[in-house]
Amino acid sequence: MATIDLQLLRSGNRRTLAKAITLVESTLEGHRQQAQQLLEQLLPHSGNSIRIGITGIPGVGKSTFIEAFGLYLISLGKKVAVLAVDPSSPIAGGSILGDKTRMELLSRESQAYIRPSPSLGTLGGVAQKTRETMILCEAAGYDVVLVETVGVGQSEYQVAGMVDFFMVLMLPNAGDELQGIKKGIIELADALVVNKADGESINLAQQTKRHYQNALHLLKPNSFWSPQVISCSAQNNENIDAVWSMIDEFYQQALVNACFEENRSRQNKSWMQTLLFELLQQKLMDNAEVKKLLPTLQEKVVNAETTPLTAAKMLIDLL
Ligand code: GDP
Repeated sequence: MATIDLQLLRSGNRRTLAKAITLVESTLEGHRQQAQQLLEQLLPHSGNSIRIGITGIPGVGKSTFIEAFGLYLISLGKKVAVLAVDPSSPIAGGSILGDKTRMELLSRESQAYIRPSPSLGTLGGVAQKTRETMILCEAAGYDVVLVETVGVGQSEYQVAGMVDFFMVLMLPNAGDELQGIKKGIIELADALVVNKADGESINLAQQTKRHYQNALHLLKPNSFWSPQVISCSAQNNENIDAVWSMIDEFYQQALVNACFEENRSRQNKSWMQTLLFELLQQKLMDNAEVKKLLPTLQEKVVNAETTPLTAAKMLIDLL
C-alpha cells in the first residue's frame, strides 16, 4: 500500500481519507504497523469533533434519520462523517444495516463522508477499526461523526463506549418490550428519539414520549445530564433541528462541567484495558511453550491430578 500523504489527508482530501481508512481496516501485519504509525501522527490533530452514536432496531428509520440529520448539519456549515458498526457482517457476510443504497442524498454531498462497516473480524475488531477511522475523519476536518449500529446485540454497547452522545431511535409504541430494545441499552442513552411522529402516529408518538419521560428519571442519575426524550419525523424533516439543539446543549453543559474530556479519557483508558487483555490472551495462546504444555495440563485437570488454578498459573509463568 502506498504511503498516505498527511497534508492531503488533513486538507480533507476524500481519496486520501478513503485510502487511510482502507489501510486502518487491513488485517495484514505490515499494514497494521503502517496504520498505527499514521494514527500516532494524526492523534494530535484528532478529537475535534462531536461523536454521536445512533442505534435502533431495523426499520426504526436510522438511515432516513441520519440522512435528514446529516443534511441539516451540513446546512449549518458542518462536515459530517457517517460510520457504521454492523455486527452481522463478520459472521454471516450479510449485514443487518443492509447493502441497499442508503442515504443517497447525503452521500452526494461534498461535506459528507459515508463509510460502511468494516467487514472483517470479531465485534471487538470491528469496533477497534471504527475508533481508528473516527480519528482519521477528525484529522480530515469532520466536525460531527455519526456512528450507526443496530440495537439488537452487543454492538450498541461498543458504540456507546466510543461516542460522546448516544441516542436510541424508537418507534411510536408504548413499552420497550414491543420494541425489542433491551433495558440495558436504554440505560446507556443520553436521549431517546421517537421517530415517525407523523401522520396517524402523531398521538401514539406523544404517548410513547410521555411513557419514556416518566420512566427515564429512574435511569442514569449520576451524570450532569438528564437523558431527554424527543420526537421527530425523519421522513418529513420535522424536529430534526431540535435533536441537534439538544445535542448542542449537552455539549455546552459537558464543557462547563468539564465532563467532555473526562468521559473521553475514561473511554480511552477502558479501551486500552480491553486491548491489553486481548493482546495478552493472544500472546499467551501463541506462545510455543504454552501450546506444548496446555494439553498435558488440561488432562491433569480433567483427571483431578492438579487444580485448575495451579495449571493456569503454570501456563502464565511460561510467559
Ligand atoms: P433503518 O432500518 O433503521 O435504517 O430504517 P430506514 O431508514 O430504512 O426506514 C425504514 C422505513 O421507515 C422506510 O420505509 C422509511 O421510509 C420509513 N421511515 C423512516 N423514517 C420515517 C418517519 O419519520 N416517518 C415515517 N412515516 N416513516 C419513516
